[in-house]
Amino acid sequence: MPSHDVLIIGAGLAGQRAALAAAQSGASVAIISKVHPVRSHSVAAAGGINAALNPEDSWESHAFDTVKGSDYLGDQDAIEIMARAAPEEILWLEHAGVTFHRNETGHLGTRAFGGASAARTYYVADITGHAILHVLYEQLMKHHETVDRYEEWFTLGLLQNDEGHCVGAVCRDLRDGHIEIFNAKATILASGGAGQVYKPTTNGLIVTGDGIAQAYRIGAKLMDMEMIQYHPTTLAGNGLLITEGARGEGAQLFNAEGERFMEKYAPNKLELASRDVVSRAEQTEINEGRGFDDGTVALDITKVPRKRTLEALREIVNIGRDFAGVDITREPIHIKPGMHYIMGGVKTDSDGQTTIPGLYAAGEVACVSVHGGNRLGANSLLDTLVFGRRSGEHAARRAVQMPMPSTPASKISEAERDVSEILNREPEGRRIGAIKDELGDTMNQYVAVFRDQEGLTKALEIVERLKEEAGQAPIDDRGTVFNQDVIAHIELGYMLDVAETIVVASLERKESRGAQFRTDFPERNDDEWLKHIDISLNGGERPEVSYSPVTITRWQPEERTY
Ligand SMILES: Cc1cc2nc3c(=O)[nH]c(=O)nc-3n(C[C@H](O)[C@H](O)[C@H](O)COP(=O)(O)OP(=O)(O)OC[C@H]3O[C@@H](n4cnc5c(N)ncnc54)[C@H](O)[C@@H]3O)c2cc1C
Repeated sequence: MPSHDVLIIGAGLAGQRAALAAAQSGASVAIISKVHPVRSHSVAAAGGINAALNPEDSWESHAFDTVKGSDYLGDQDAIEIMARAAPEEILWLEHAGVTFHRNETGHLGTRAFGGASAARTYYVADITGHAILHVLYEQLMKHHETVDRYEEWFTLGLLQNDEGHCVGAVCRDLRDGHIEIFNAKATILASGGAGQVYKPTTNGLIVTGDGIAQAYRIGAKLMDMEMIQYHPTTLAGNGLLITEGARGEGAQLFNAEGERFMEKYAPNKLELASRDVVSRAEQTEINEGRGFDDGTVALDITKVPRKRTLEALREIVNIGRDFAGVDITREPIHIKPGMHYIMGGVKTDSDGQTTIPGLYAAGEVACVSVHGGNRLGANSLLDTLVFGRRSGEHAARRAVQMPMPSTPASKISEAERDVSEILNREPEGRRIGAIKDELGDTMNQYVAVFRDQEGLTKALEIVERLKEEAGQAPIDDRGTVFNQDVIAHIELGYMLDVAETIVVASLERKESRGAQFRTDFPERNDDEWLKHIDISLNGGERPEVSYSPVTITRWQPEERTY
């Protein structure tokens, strides 16, 4: 049985940063990933990472922009920690080898991003996540004596001892299907978001909410689950992202009547208002008949000098050409709001500790909450790194103070039984792909930019029916070697749990704030709803709702205009 001080589930930016921090603090570490670490979804991050590093900028300004962007639902103590730590984190990355863009004077250069009062986004063309992830992986190699990498291992569930403490996880080796217990003094979930709950999404096929569901199933609290970000510029149909970096470089939005409609909705910030505001504006134009026939509006990147686009936005030049047949340097491209990010997740404190002793969470799986009702672009990479590091350090400190907990070996046979039950089902009923499609379509129809009681109630009924159906659904592959069919089945179960909590929280919040716009409650209502919605199983089988206060340090809620 592999035993380590710190077990990290997930090897994207949050997981790798946590692993480095824990190793540097003297802990023995295991890091597990269901794909090769550099294929983790962080590799797709494009536009950049925020920090108030420029002497004319300040961490206070970054923090305030984040609080305002969150529609005052973000916890201000955590936001302060993140904004203060950002400059040091950028310099650490640069010294580790990330080739951030430099300007004509040779200094680190920035681009503008939405909702920010200064251009404070540091970037590597439009492959920022790729550049950082590869450098972290190189750094991890240096620690090969204390960090054991388990690549292409799938975590099936978290383990608790009799006191309810998390003591590790039970995992399946994807190469041959064998199952092992990983014993640990501290376990850090860094398993990313849940984009695949929706269809389409900008997120890859591997982003299935595993960690959120695994924590929830052992009783951890989730928070802000209703807050789902629709990104303003995604391709219709396939959901591929056109980075906000394009608008940061000067691209503009037009409706089918040739009107630069953001002048109506956000006269000061225009296309660089925060994402919830721009997505709602686009969807309003589309719903009121001023969009194109394909249900889109146009993003005109020809406003950016061609040379600059080819240099700084080269990936979206490829995406436009390969997936929409459009040369974005010469003509506008049709886009629409699309599901992109989950602001909610496993509730943590600012050291990553969840409500289960011994269990930490960091990155998109977690909710600290620094994004509140709406995340500012380029704040997520920062969140993964700052809170990944803090979780790694805290988990290592916990580990030195305690002996290795014991874990019953019987958990292996229980997990084996669960997997064989799926493998041996009769080949009758709908396939998991069809169930997943219905889930994604349902969420995109009823739990999207605009929501109401009737649609949310319908969504909940469908999700509950799909949960029943998925519990019986058969798979085709009964083998052991890279059996992705059985994994997809287990992931579907996670996605359905996550979907249920999203819908329950959206029904609960009877106001409009950030990404949650209720057409039946169109105003923000601070008197009743300036609070977090927490969801947990609380020992039962259905999600239970409770509330927790929003931490306000220095910025009282104000009307939010851009
Ligand atoms: C197209 C796109 C562009 C983006 N651009 C930006 C940007 O420019 N700036 C910004 O700030 N943010 C951006 N974001 C958001 C940001 O990239 C993500 O929020 C962030 O990278 C998430 O990192 P993470 O480490 O939390 O998770 P991930 O990078 O998703 O890593 C999750 C890890 O968990 C592992 N895992 C999951 N489940 C299991 C399991 N059951 N067993 C074992 N391992 C498991 C995976 O293999 C993976 O290693 C973008 C997002 C997308 C989709």
